Amino acid sequence: MNIALIAHDGKKPELVSFFLKNKDLFLNSEIYATATTGSHLGDMGVSVNTVLSGPLGGDAQIASLMVTGGIDMVFFFRDPLGKHPHEPDVQMLMRLCDVHNIPLATNPAGAELMLRALKGKLHEQG
Ligand code: PGA
Repeated sequence: MNIALIAHDGKKPELVSFFLKNKDLFLNSEIYATATTGSHLGDMGVSVNTVLSGPLGGDAQIASLMVTGGIDMVFFFRDPLGKHPHEPDVQMLMRLCDVHNIPLATNPAGAELMLRALKGKLHEQG
């Protein structure tokens, strides 16, 4: 599976710890991330394909990969209390998840539930 990981600045620590806690589940997945999120993951030894930083078009790049079939699942930990210059890109990414029926989790609780489903799917595949 190809998995996109993105977090606004205030949520990067939560995304990194969520990923590390569950890293075994991602062993056979290819990880894509926006630049700064990706560098935080890289610092923890995670192998990750990065695109541009979100405000510079990285969310748009992830969306572009997604609509051409290159992303199967998106974890985007948004910071609802912050202001983001690239909010239109964030909305666009979320809209395209809905258009293409791509699973999207925008907070840790949703991410945990989505992972449980992924775990079940991997279990079914043996
Ligand atoms: P970043 O981008 O990982 O480069 O910070 C994430 C975002 O804010 O969309």
